[in-house]
Amino acid sequence: MSFSLAIVGRPNVGKSTLFNRLVGRRLALVDDQPGVTRDLREGEARLVDLRFTVIDTAGLEEATDESLQGRMRKLTERAVDMADICLFMIDARVGILPADEIFAEILRKRAKHVILAANKAEGKAGEGGLLEAYALGLGEPLRLSAEHGEGMHELYDALLPLSKEFDERAASEAPATDIELSEEEAALGEDFEEGDEAGFSRDFTLDKPLQIAVVGRPNAGKSTLINKLLGEERLLTGPEAGITRDSISVTMTWNDVPVRVFDTAGMRKKAKVQEKLEKLSVSDGLRAVKFAEVVVVLLDVSIPFEQQDLRIADLAEREGRAVVIAVNKWDEETDKSNKAKALREEFTRLLPQLRGAQLVTVSALTGKNLDKLQEAILNAHAVWNRRVSTAKLNNWLGAMTTAHPPPAPGGRRIKLRYMTQVKARPPQFVVMCSHPEELNDSYKRYLINGLREDFDMPGTPIRLFFRSQG
Ligand code: GDP
Ligand code: GDP
Repeated sequence: MSFSLAIVGRPNVGKSTLFNRLVGRRLALVDDQPGVTRDLREGEARLVDLRFTVIDTAGLEEATDESLQGRMRKLTERAVDMADICLFMIDARVGILPADEIFAEILRKRAKHVILAANKAEGKAGEGGLLEAYALGLGEPLRLSAEHGEGMHELYDALLPLSKEFDERAASEAPATDIELSEEEAALGEDFEEGDEAGFSRDFTLDKPLQIAVVGRPNAGKSTLINKLLGEERLLTGPEAGITRDSISVTMTWNDVPVRVFDTAGMRKKAKVQEKLEKLSVSDGLRAVKFAEVVVVLLDVSIPFEQQDLRIADLAEREGRAVVIAVNKWDEETDKSNKAKALREEFTRLLPQLRGAQLVTVSALTGKNLDKLQEAILNAHAVWNRRVSTAKLNNWLGAMTTAHPPPAPGGRRIKLRYMTQVKARPPQFVVMCSHPEELNDSYKRYLINGLREDFDMPGTPIRLFFRSQG
């Protein structure tokens, strides 16, 4: 099981540096792309044998005016509410500033667990600040140097007992399938998860725009589509804080949902001319996929499902993004009903890994069906965010294993004991079982397809992990 850790503190104390150290380089690179929001970054952290989600609030470095400071406060509160544990970071070289007191106040009121850390504590320059930190009333500060990797073991020691607490709690909330839940217990599990669910999606959807990438071959109609969406909405907002003039994304609202569309065609136009168009549009697509939540694969109806389209759709699935397939230039198609049928067949055959993803026919030029496309995107995003309660999952697992028992290699039946959803975006589940290494792919597919159907999660990548337990 796992927990989440939010790193909070005023700008410049070293939050991102620690985030990057815990998560590794890959994610950090993604953020170097222009136009990427850095509101709340989430990453999978590793520290010795601990695996957890780390949330970085370092998005608002340019918080100079009042409204931005307000946003920073809101952002911190959101992160604190989301996280199981907060790491409150101060700068040991600077000491305690009034802004630190504000953060301390938020944490004292809202945080479940606080670990105080005095960063930049390498050498002697940090000693004064370290002592001042005691005055915050949040316990003994850890001595860290995020940049030099000092204090990581102390951080581990601070996290370990908390992580055990979460493990125990998770285990008690995830009963074995052969134990019948009393109504009371079932209700308990339900409450916990449902609260979690509401909080989770609210945190992420309120003011952070839904990130969409439109990818596809050159001339598929990406620019036309984005312009049409903008034109229809007439809601193009100007450059936002932290996003430069060169921004390659546009922001708009659909039914009160803020969305940000990455313009990969725009990226291409900005790139060097001598680079080959074909190659470039693939790498633009790759980049866009990495920071999108929903990827719209835009096909040209006259040449649908080209190799390049298939590659990018597959990549989006492997990266765990929600996918919507849009077939463009539908206005040009003369045999619409036969073509629609053929497209669906091709889609099922060529992209089985995206089973259930929506396929929408559109005309970017005329605007036809763009409302359907928007709806498909919002739906895909909702599914991608879905959380299923542990109680429901275990009832389901019991039914699935009864209907079709797991294999028994060498006469010894594999026991699937219980399961829980460890993450959303995309949905991730862990099944505790005996001899997970002996479970075959066809049984895994049976469970994944069952999850997809029974919990209504079409078109979203589902990750299912098996962990060994007796
Ligand atoms: P954030 O705004 O809190 O995310 O801070 P950053 O991670 O961007 O760090 C701000 C500055 O402090 C950068 O120049 C870092 O290189 C520097 N920094 C971060 N950690 C340390 C540290 O442990 N020691 C020293 N001396 N500098 C650090
Ligand atoms: P991009 O390279 O993917 O950004 O493609 P563009 O948006 O530049 O469009 C390429 C060409 O396809 C242009 O000539 C567009 O006018 C045309 N086009 C785009 N969408 C449609 C459509 O829905 N129907 C038709 N008939 N033409 C379209």
